Amino acid sequence: MTIAENVAGVRQRIQAAASRAQRDPKKIELMAVSKTVPAESIREAYEAGIRLFGENRVQEFTGKAPALREFTEARWHMIGHLQTNKAGSAIELFNAIDSLDSLRLAQKLNAAAMHSERKLPVLIEINIGGEQAKSGVALDSEELKQLLSIAPELKNLEIRGLMALPPYSEDPEQSRPFFRRMREKFHEISNQRLPAIGMLDVLSIGMSHDFEIAIEEGATRIRVGTAIFGERKSARSKA
Ligand SMILES: *Cc1c(COP(=O)(O)O)cnc(C)c1O
Repeated sequence: MTIAENVAGVRQRIQAAASRAQRDPKKIELMAVSKTVPAESIREAYEAGIRLFGENRVQEFTGKAPALREFTEARWHMIGHLQTNKAGSAIELFNAIDSLDSLRLAQKLNAAAMHSERKLPVLIEINIGGEQAKSGVALDSEELKQLLSIAPELKNLEIRGLMALPPYSEDPEQSRPFFRRMREKFHEISNQRLPAIGMLDVLSIGMSHDFEIAIEEGATRIRVGTAIFGERKSARSKA
């Protein structure tokens, strides 16, 4: 299967899941996760119409970025853990940070974004399974409350929504309760109408093996790597 065929297949599955859930498929954004993937494969995805890409390492993307400049309509989002000392380089490389996982990182990004013309869009990453090995703020934590309450001071950031990766299971149904909790939190925060948090419109949940469940549970963005680009060779790329 070519990458273009994979993209077409994923789009069909998005359509089918959306119609099962009686949702408008246009409200579900497909992000291609291109970590570990070479620029030639990214080109194939771009030519198949993908415009939103997720990468998880500053260093890897620094190396690939020069080969990707011609894809002028592409948007590049950071979806991996970002060390605070790389906030400055991340801002230069990426259009958005979808993996804001601490108050400290929020402050660093806000300071680093001081001179940019536009606010930096961010998603707060929630560690929905409470897993040691994963980053993200805990769902009912003080840190999440603080992050939301200091948002008015973070004038260079624009909090757009939430992102999460549930614990991995072969059985995608196991992701459903975690996705559901994410949707509830997403609605709860939207309904609070916090000052300085504008439209909270992105709920980024669901990957290759469970994106259909995520769509049924309200995902507005899914992050698909393997189902588009094939199995990743390097085991280092933490999912
Ligand atoms: C790698 C990765 C994905 C994509 O995973 P696949 O199973 O290959 O679709 C999605 N989200 C994050 C945060 C990732 O690191």
